[in-house]
Amino acid sequence: MLDETVNWPFFEEAHRRFAADLSRWADKTLASLPHDDVDAACRARVKALGEAGFLDAVVPRAYGGSHDVFDVRTLCLAREILGYRDGLSDFAFAMQGLGSGTITLFGSDAIKKRYLPAVRQGKMIAAFALSEPEAGSDVAALAMTAKRDGDHYRLDGSKTWISNGGIADFYVVFACTGEAPGAKGLSAFVVDADTPGFSITNRIEIIAPHPLATISFDGVRVPVENMLGKPGDGFKAAMATLDVFRSTVGAAALGFARRALDEMTERAATRKLFGAPLSELQLTQAAIADSATDVDAAALLIYRAAWTKDKGAARVTREAAMAKMFATEMAQQVIDRAVQLFGGLGVTKGVKVEELYREIRALRIYEGATEVQKVIIARETLKLRNSKPVLAAE
Ligand SMILES: Cc1cc2nc3c(=O)[nH]c(=O)nc-3n(C[C@H](O)[C@H](O)[C@H](O)COP(=O)(O)OP(=O)(O)OC[C@H]3O[C@@H](n4cnc5c(N)ncnc54)[C@H](O)[C@@H]3O)c2cc1C
Repeated sequence: MLDETVNWPFFEEAHRRFAADLSRWADKTLASLPHDDVDAACRARVKALGEAGFLDAVVPRAYGGSHDVFDVRTLCLAREILGYRDGLSDFAFAMQGLGSGTITLFGSDAIKKRYLPAVRQGKMIAAFALSEPEAGSDVAALAMTAKRDGDHYRLDGSKTWISNGGIADFYVVFACTGEAPGAKGLSAFVVDADTPGFSITNRIEIIAPHPLATISFDGVRVPVENMLGKPGDGFKAAMATLDVFRSTVGAAALGFARRALDEMTERAATRKLFGAPLSELQLTQAAIADSATDVDAAALLIYRAAWTKDKGAARVTREAAMAKMFATEMAQQVIDRAVQLFGGLGVTKGVKVEELYREIRALRIYEGATEVQKVIIARETLKLRNSKPVLAAE
């Protein structure tokens, strides 16, 4: 239970207050927000979260937010709490953070002033545009170009799978500026959606509806001041942003899994089979036991990564990769067990576990697929081994 988790030593009183306030607000508000049209539903959630002050968590204090930079534990709690209740609300919250995160970490003061207060108030919708049709996991294969042209850069190319594509007011975009080959020759820019030459190529429909699009840049001119960081900082900026938000993907998965576990236990206790509740069958108990253990193990990994970052670690690459990988994979299994336990009802539209089954799938792919996380974890673990004294027996 989240109520127990927030009493773990990773958390402080402010986290417990935040979790209680957000849970109370979400229970009161989310059901009344629109659900049918995905764009309208997403806009309504950004606005509501902003007006209620919960987007303060995604913006630094100097621009109206609640923490000096990011408090990853607060971001994770928010995603877990929202994910438990409503996948689209979690998405709306997360994208305001991810979409503006590179501005927070690498933007000039003038750029931060222009975007961050509006992001916090829910008045501007943010997007993060890294992936391209030929460059998803392989970021070094990015083909979009940004060429210096006087006091502007000219952007040409295309991005795909862009969350909030079609409804965002601005996009943080990564393009090749060519300071070095591959990933070392990328730079980051902020591009307003109404800049001439920018367009939405097509909207992408996915199994759990969210605003998503392929976007196109045809001679888009952005002032040099819109560059985030220095020329060639793009890869570093993208990875630093993902380093903060990767654990939060795990937290969203944790929220989905916790909900599936609650749905599963309720169903098992109330559904009668062979003259007794389903929960009395030992195979059902095994499903519940495995799921409860998976949920707690994921929570430990997620809040360990978040706590480590908040306590000042420069990078949490290994911890965040473990948290994201384990939590998304375990959530898929927990939700699948819940669907199984619900029988035919589990695959029926409108039933929560069916929705969770669709919601969880993309989390194992975006912000680094599970296989990519494995590569990262292995690389970081081998690095640790190399930095240790050689064992006596060797
Ligand atoms: C719902 C959704 C929202 C998204 N939102 C955004 C967004 O807002 N901004 C953005 O920039 N991108 C976004 N993406 C894109 C996402 O980051 C990419 O889909 C992801 O990085 C994988 O890239 P790809 O789809 O090109 O798959 P590919 O790179 O072609 O990879 C395909 C598969 O290959 C496997 N694989 C990859 N690397 C390895 C490896 N090293 N070893 C073994 N197997 C491997 C994995 O199973 C992977 O799923 C989103 C994607 C989805 C589905």
